[in-house]
Amino acid sequence: TSQYDVIIIGAGAAGLMCAATAGYRGRKVLVLDHANKPGKKILMSGGGRCNFTNLNSTPANFLSDNPRFCISALKRYTPQDFLELVDRHGVEYEEKAPGQLFCKDSAKDILNLLLTECEWAGATIRMNTGISQIEAQDTGYRLLTSSGGKLSCQSLVIATGGLSIPTMGATGFGYDLARQFDLTVLPTRAGLVPFTLHPELKEQLSPLSGVSCPVDVSCHNQHFREPMLVTHRGLSGPAMLQISSYWHPGDSLAINLLPACHIRDDLLALRNSKPRSTVGQYLAQHLPKRFAQAFNDLNQWQGPLQGYRNSDIDEVASQLGQWSIKPAGTEGYRTAEVTLGGVDTRQLSSKTMAVLDRPNLYFIGEVVDVTGHLGGHNFQWAWASGVVAGQHA
Ligand code: FAD
Repeated sequence: TSQYDVIIIGAGAAGLMCAATAGYRGRKVLVLDHANKPGKKILMSGGGRCNFTNLNSTPANFLSDNPRFCISALKRYTPQDFLELVDRHGVEYEEKAPGQLFCKDSAKDILNLLLTECEWAGATIRMNTGISQIEAQDTGYRLLTSSGGKLSCQSLVIATGGLSIPTMGATGFGYDLARQFDLTVLPTRAGLVPFTLHPELKEQLSPLSGVSCPVDVSCHNQHFREPMLVTHRGLSGPAMLQISSYWHPGDSLAINLLPACHIRDDLLALRNSKPRSTVGQYLAQHLPKRFAQAFNDLNQWQGPLQGYRNSDIDEVASQLGQWSIKPAGTEGYRTAEVTLGGVDTRQLSSKTMAVLDRPNLYFIGEVVDVTGHLGGHNFQWAWASGVVAGQHA
């Protein structure tokens, strides 16, 4: 049996960060992963350029059944801390949207940074290694790999991520293991995921496919003011991905297509000043031309504004400002960026990520019931939870 101080299962963002941190403390660290290469999600993230953190990340950017849990780790390891690491490795980056930092060149830079840190810290990474059995012992854990190898460790860290993108090696391993040790796993669902539409609405919106416009979308008192993209499958773009994490089957979304306008006042004023102008012309001033045209046709708004009564204008304003849509569903784990739910944080120490009544077992990253908004928050959680576990494991 090969013995280690710390075994980490999952060579993704959280696992690699944890491995380097524990390795620098002089711990003998082994990272195991069943995939053929480490950090596959890092490589595909941020359109290949990895939105590796968000300078404005606060606990309010995270969903969890226990919302205060993430505060401690996020305070102990901040976006500035990760940025210092990025600077030390000379990785070039840019702020694409306020606070959102992306690699200038490629997401590979972030993976290489993590692999270099693991190497410097003396952590071993073993790929193509599945785990068939884990047993608790008096002083730690014994693992059996799927090829029959026997390993043991004092501390075991589970960093196997969520269920999103199964083709990239995502599995429910972490949840199964949590259940094996009698921990509660909160129901999981796909988050940061495009919506699908019922056939009739999909057909109606098909002329808008490929068009993007800034909207304010809301559901369950959550608002996001970001671009929406109509696709041939449904609704996507940052606004829809963000709100998808708050959406449950059967819910409607309220979409304000002109969040920067006072629609009713604008239309009333326009009816006075230019009575022959049309709703279509008003839309064309504020929306992409194709979107304006198609949305106007969809609602059959015809004729000059002088023919509109106040109640007609109210109706137009409501349709534009609170366009209500009931998605059929989401595209699910196949395309979701994250998995909501997971290991219930009430059973974990927020300072170490260890299981409260099993201090040598740790859960970090996405497998835990902490899920960030779009914009670099999920990696910040992976780094922060990985570091605090690495400081204690
Ligand atoms: P992962 O990075 O998923 O790593 C888990 C590891 O565990 C994997 O290597 C996997 O092979 C391994 N594993 C799984 N099951 C087993 C098993 N049974 N045995 C052994 N090993 C196993 N977040 C951002 O902040 N910014 C972005 O730009 C961004 N872009 C994204 C784009 C896409 C397309 C996707 C899918 C996600 C994106 N995310 C982004 C989310 C981010 O990738 C995840 O939140 C983050 O990778 C979670 O880190 P993790 O270490 O917990 O899990």
